[in-house]
Amino acid sequence: MKYHSLNYNSHNVSFLDAVRKGLAPDRGLYFPEKIPKLSEKFIQNINSYSNHEIAFEVINPFVGNEISKNRLREIIADTLIFDFPIVSINDKIATLELFHGPTLAFKDVGARFMARCLNYANEIKSNKNLTILVATSGDTGGAVADGFYKVEGINVVLLYPKGKVSAIQEKQLTTLGENITALEVDGTFDDCQDMVKSAFIDSDLINEIELTSANSINIARWLSQMFYFFIAYKNRPYPEKKLVISVPSGNFGNICAGLVAQQMGLPIDHLIASTNINDTVPNYLNSGTYSPKKSKSTISNAMDVGDPSNFIRIQKIFNNDIFKIKKVLSGYHYSDSQTKKAMKEIYKISSYIADPHGAVGYLGLKDFLKNTDESYYGIFFETAHPIKFADIVEDTLKTTIEVPNRLKSILERTNNSIPIKTYEQLKAYLSER
Ligand SMILES: *Cc1c(COP(=O)(O)O)cnc(C)c1O
Repeated sequence: MKYHSLNYNSHNVSFLDAVRKGLAPDRGLYFPEKIPKLSEKFIQNINSYSNHEIAFEVINPFVGNEISKNRLREIIADTLIFDFPIVSINDKIATLELFHGPTLAFKDVGARFMARCLNYANEIKSNKNLTILVATSGDTGGAVADGFYKVEGINVVLLYPKGKVSAIQEKQLTTLGENITALEVDGTFDDCQDMVKSAFIDSDLINEIELTSANSINIARWLSQMFYFFIAYKNRPYPEKKLVISVPSGNFGNICAGLVAQQMGLPIDHLIASTNINDTVPNYLNSGTYSPKKSKSTISNAMDVGDPSNFIRIQKIFNNDIFKIKKVLSGYHYSDSQTKKAMKEIYKISSYIADPHGAVGYLGLKDFLKNTDESYYGIFFETAHPIKFADIVEDTLKTTIEVPNRLKSILERTNNSIPIKTYEQLKAYLSER
């Protein structure tokens, strides 16, 4: 499989080259030359496949023969090391929990898969020094830090907005040490992302060090998120009903992976992009105009993105035809107070403790189901463990959440982040190392 830049100015590259580069030299996002179709037999018999086998069938056509089948199976086995349970909320709605990985957010799968692909790419190349530069609104950084921790030949530099990530997220970003460095940026997530983008086109810098990204724009992170949609389909409680999946969305990588899965032949009848007040995409779906805005801070901070990078990939899947997009994708947006109300409602009807991101997903699903007469079964993704947003969740639900064991130790570690404010400071830091 070859990948081309969505800016169309660069040559086709292979899977591993696209993973190593992250962003194409013309600053475009990589996109596969075609979306492969899975056999109907595979879809019909999906229940007889394990999660690892499903992941292999799904990703193998995107990797091609660049990684041997055995090695790819090993990478998958080492990526999917935890479960993805479905929990019923009522007779029409369930949630798929994606937070059972090491950093308690769904990004663990993409980060682990990418780290292992890059590790392999490093093994077969002579140049072994690679710097991963990542802007994070919270969860990406933790997942990338954990996924790449102590991976040889790879240094990770994380940029996060000061005061805009939760206490646990900050610990996950800033305390590992070794090959992981966190830079605390005096600014917003969009400022962090702009700095990263500037670094990638700074010719002084990229002549000096090999830089790549691990944001959801990286194809290894983006495409491996398709696994969730297949697992949701396989384990859905009412197979006779149409399936609608609601995805709490920020940078739109996860839901874009769902749309690719659907193009491959996975029978998801409808997808819902549920956002907080950073509502650029729901507005586009309603008005037909895409007008990016500055991001605004909310209680679902991993979705505080005003100009989602991956949206251009969604447009590409549908050849920029908004009518085609709207047939399979709806968008809804919610305020913080609506989100809190939803958390209370979910807790009341099922004693389920949802985090703010999951609650936004629930709201999107509820509104979609309200407006249709057809017999749908809905699954919303629970993208983070509620403990990651303990302050808000406990305050809203008037209850306490038990701290999972794998978190207890991290809370005692020391934050050793470095404060920065400008791109020049980032550049100085990167070139001095
Ligand atoms: C990253 C993240 C999202 C948004 O995912 P995108 O792929 O960027 O749309 C939603 N919820 C949580 C908890 C996240 O960490």
